[in-house]
Amino acid sequence: MLTTESLVEFEQMKMFIDGEWKDAENTNTISVVNPSTGKTIGQIPNGGRSETRNAIEAAERAFKMWSNLTANERGDYLLKLRDLMHDNKQQLAEIMSMEMGKPFSEGQGEVVYAASFLAWFAEEGRRIYGETIPASSTNKRLIVTRQPVGVVAAITPWNFPLAMMTRKLGPALAAGCTGIVKPAKQSPISALAFAKLAELAGIPKGVINVVTGESGPIADEIFENKTVRKISFTGSTEIGKLLVSKSAAQLKRLSLELGGHAPFIVFEDADLELAATGAVASKYRNTGQTCVCANRVYVHRSVMERFSEILIQKVKELKVGNSLESGVQVGPLVSKEGLSKVEEHVKDALEKGARLLCGGRRMDGELADGNFYEPTVLTDVNRTMLVTREETFGPVAPLIPFDSEEEVLSEANDTDYGLAAYFYTENLSRAIRVSEALEFGIIGMNDAVPAVPQAPFGGMKESGIGREGGHQGLDEYLEDKFISLSFQTKK
Ligand code: NAP
Repeated sequence: MLTTESLVEFEQMKMFIDGEWKDAENTNTISVVNPSTGKTIGQIPNGGRSETRNAIEAAERAFKMWSNLTANERGDYLLKLRDLMHDNKQQLAEIMSMEMGKPFSEGQGEVVYAASFLAWFAEEGRRIYGETIPASSTNKRLIVTRQPVGVVAAITPWNFPLAMMTRKLGPALAAGCTGIVKPAKQSPISALAFAKLAELAGIPKGVINVVTGESGPIADEIFENKTVRKISFTGSTEIGKLLVSKSAAQLKRLSLELGGHAPFIVFEDADLELAATGAVASKYRNTGQTCVCANRVYVHRSVMERFSEILIQKVKELKVGNSLESGVQVGPLVSKEGLSKVEEHVKDALEKGARLLCGGRRMDGELADGNFYEPTVLTDVNRTMLVTREETFGPVAPLIPFDSEEEVLSEANDTDYGLAAYFYTENLSRAIRVSEALEFGIIGMNDAVPAVPQAPFGGMKESGIGREGGHQGLDEYLEDKFISLSFQTKK
C-alpha cells in the first residue's frame, strides 16, 4: 500500500506518457485548488498538442502488442489494477476530497464503484463473441468477427474523476484498444494516481497515457490526429455538441455521456419515508453535482405537506463541512462559478414566487473560504424558474406539486434531456405504465441510486449517444467485421 504522497507527488506532478512521467514541454503549470479551503494543493503540467501527439503515438505503438494479447491476459491486468485500487482506496478517496471536494466516505464509495468497471469488463472481454451467418449459396461461409477500434481518447469530467475514467478505459482495454485520457483540470490528480497504479499493475507502456492541461489544444490534437479512431466524452451537453461538430471532419466515432435534468416523482401511494430518503441520496450526493441528480421533485398535492416535513427533517440533519472531515455528508461546490450558479438559481426561483423551506444561503464562519452552500429545499416551484430548466448542479431540491399521473408524465418528459428519472409508488400497474412512459435512459423505481457496472448507463435526447457499462459498454470499442469466405465445394 502507498501513502497518498507517494501515489502522487503533489510538489512535482507529471503526466504519464509512454510509460514515463513527464513535464509539459513549455514547463507551464496549472494550479489545482481545494474547494473546501480555497488553498492550492499542487500544480499540474499544462500539456498541449505536442504532448498529446506523443501520447497518441505511444498508444499506437502499444496497440499491436496489446490487441494481440488474449482476452484472458488483458483481463488479468485489469483485475490486478482493480485490486490495487481497492488496496489504495483511502488514498484515492483523499485525493478526490482534496481536488474536487467529494466527501471522504463518498470518495471511498466511488473508488469501489470505479474499480468494479475494471472487474466487469475484464470478464466481459472474455465473451466478445463473433457470429456465423447462414450463407445464400453453398460455396460460401459468412463470418462476423469483432475487433478493437484502435487508439481511443477519453475526455472526462471532474465530478466522478475515477469512475468516469474506468467506465471508459475498462471496456476499451478489455476490447484490445489503447489510448489516452484527458482529465478535467479541476480533478486531474485522481487520473495521475490511477496512472501510477496502472504502472504498478505492470500494464505495458503506452497502453494508458494521461495528458493534463488546457482542454482546447489537447482536444484539437485528439480530433485532428488520424490515429485516434474513437473518442468517449463525459461532460456538459454544450461541449458535447461542440465535439460532435469537431468529429465531422474525420467522421470519428464518438460516444457522449452528457447532462441531465432528472424528474423525481412521488406519487400519492408512495412510501413517503423511502421516497424522502431516496430524494436526499439523489439530490445531495456529491453536493448535488451529478448528471443523474434529482433536479425536479414532483410531489402529489395530497402528500406534499407530509413529504416536505420528512424531507426537511432529513436535510437539516445533513452534516456539511470540509470533505476530509469524518462524518461530513455534504462538501463544497467544485468552484466559485458553481457556487454563483446555485445562488443565481435560488434567487431566480424566490423572485418568481418559490418559498424557501430550508437553507438558501452561502455558508460563512469557518467555511467561508470554501465554496459551501447550505442544503436547500424550495417549494411552490413552477416551470418558469431556472431550477426546472437548467442543471443547478448544487444542493437544491425544488418541490413542484402535481394532481394527476397524466399531468406529471407530461411535465417530467418536457425537457431536452433524457438521462435519468425516478419515481416512487407502491402500485404495480402504475409502476409499469410510468416506467414505460418516461423518456429517459435510466429509470429508478423506488430506487435513487440505480447505476451499476453490469447495466447500461446513458441518455436519450440531448443527454448523449451510446451506453457505458453492461455488455453494451463494450460495443462502443469494437468494430464488426464481415468476412465472406468463398470456397470450392469439390476437390
Ligand atoms: P465540461 O465543462 O463539459 O467538461 C468535461 C470535460 O471536457 C473536461 O475534461 C473538460 O476539460 C473538457 N472540455 C472543456 N471544454 C472542452 C473543449 N472545448 N473541447 C474538448 N474538451 C473540453 O463538464 P464538467 O463541468 O466537467 O462536468 C459536468 C457536466 O458533465 C454536467 O453537465 C454533467 O451532467 C455531465 N456529466 C454527465 C455524466 C453522464 O454519464 N451522462 C456523468 C458525469 C457528468 P477542462 O475542465 O480541463 O476544461
